Amino acid sequence: MTPRLSVSDLAKAYDGLQVLDGLDLEVGKGEFVSLLGPSGAGKSTLFRLLTGGRPDRGTIRLDGAPIAEQTAPFAFMPQRDALMDWRTIIGNASLGLEIAGVPRHEARARVAPLFAEFGLSGFQHHYPAQLSGGMRQRAALLRTIVMDRPMLLLDEPFGALDALTRAGMQRWLAAMWQRHRWTALLITHDVREAILLSDRIYLLSPRPARVVAEIHVPLPRPRSQADLATPEALR
Ligand code: ADP
Ligand code: MG
Repeated sequence: MTPRLSVSDLAKAYDGLQVLDGLDLEVGKGEFVSLLGPSGAGKSTLFRLLTGGRPDRGTIRLDGAPIAEQTAPFAFMPQRDALMDWRTIIGNASLGLEIAGVPRHEARARVAPLFAEFGLSGFQHHYPAQLSGGMRQRAALLRTIVMDRPMLLLDEPFGALDALTRAGMQRWLAAMWQRHRWTALLITHDVREAILLSDRIYLLSPRPARVVAEIHVPLPRPRSQADLATPEALR
């Protein structure tokens, strides 16, 4: 079966610093994969190459075709929360759709029903500065999700949050993933986060970033809506 995402022999250097050199990885359809590596390893560099940057060498394919030939293959959430302070939360959440040409009222009608699931009920007309850090990240993720792309990319989505909020967000994302089965690549330096959320983890060596180990997370995860009713303990 063709993997959804296939990265092969990727290389990138900045002013003589070889950040990536021969990076290979794959993500299957419906799989949640984490890329785990220390700060400075080159994770965000990979993210930038996935979202439009030019590699020095190597190929990135989505469903078998080079991503350079595809318009907007990924829904992505950058490391820094990118909400616009001057737009309301619903204005932020519908922004991607509006940029894609969906009329504003229609874009808002599409995102509004998702607010409850993202724990943002009643906050549609608030501004980012009025929300907690965790809520802002959920709003940023909501904006990403509504784009309905083949794959979700997350770069350290909870890195700026305090430990308690981060733990809550991780559990929330795990539950969301069980419900929606997004194909996802999570970039993180947090071992526990990678274990909690992933089917599979790639461990990266720093500069040049290469996969040094591949770990299949052995925890049985619910695989269908029917399974979800039972394992309370997993949530
Ligand atoms: P990570 O996301 O794993 O923390 P990065 O991909 O952000 O790592 O950075 C990897 C290395 O590349 C670091 O040493 C960083 O300083 C360097 N680097 C990243 N972006 C640039 C850039 N635009 N110009 C020069 N060096 C960069
Ligand atoms: Mg980074």
